Amino acid sequence: MDSMAERFQHIRSQIRHATSIAGRPKDSVQLLAVSKTKPASDIAELYHLGQRHFAENYVQEALTKQQQLTAFNISWHFIGPIQSNKTKPIACHFAWVHSVDRLKIAQRLSEQRPENLPPLNICLQVNISDEASKSGVSVEELPEMVQAVSVLPNLRLRGVMAIPEPESNYAKQRQPYRRLYQAVQQLERADLDSFSFGMSGDLKAAIMEGATMVRIGTALFGERS
Ligand SMILES: *Cc1c(COP(=O)(O)O)cnc(C)c1O
Repeated sequence: MDSMAERFQHIRSQIRHATSIAGRPKDSVQLLAVSKTKPASDIAELYHLGQRHFAENYVQEALTKQQQLTAFNISWHFIGPIQSNKTKPIACHFAWVHSVDRLKIAQRLSEQRPENLPPLNICLQVNISDEASKSGVSVEELPEMVQAVSVLPNLRLRGVMAIPEPESNYAKQRQPYRRLYQAVQQLERADLDSFSFGMSGDLKAAIMEGATMVRIGTALFGERS
């Protein structure tokens, strides 16, 4: 199996390559390392290779690792489902939240964001698979949610996050991202500059359709058990 260093180099070169094919500026796509289920020692190893942005899905697991890594200057992103009784630790211990899918959660995060911290960066999770079972606001509800979340004082709305249905066909991988990207452009909000699109299996499609942050777990850390 490849080493962490080799996997990291490989992903970074894939990102550079896709960014260049897309005709987008170099460094316009940020790598988020998704470390859920992986130990703090893996995070430390990747940190020493130069990675600074890490994403977690489960609050308690994330807090435990953060406590083991207090000496590290990590920017922590929360990307998992959010229960309303878990908003406080998220508001206190993260720089970004990608998975805001209802107004009540945004309101609680704003109320609970400590005054001594900068505003919490937020992406709205949008359901682009047209499945009732999937979480996220619909594309139709997006304009109204953007309005409502924008006025919350301790949040900074940055953009959208999407988790499409797994799809192996490259052209089909691109479609839902394109639709969402266009829906955001139609809002004519220059402040919405962040597109959290793409995982290990659809990195290139996501970058072709405007991703500014790709969330990579398996391709960096190996399979999760
Ligand atoms: C686990 C997870 C990822 C990473 O997925 P990989 O396929 O392992 O790269 C990205 N985004 C979210 C929301 C996740 O839960």
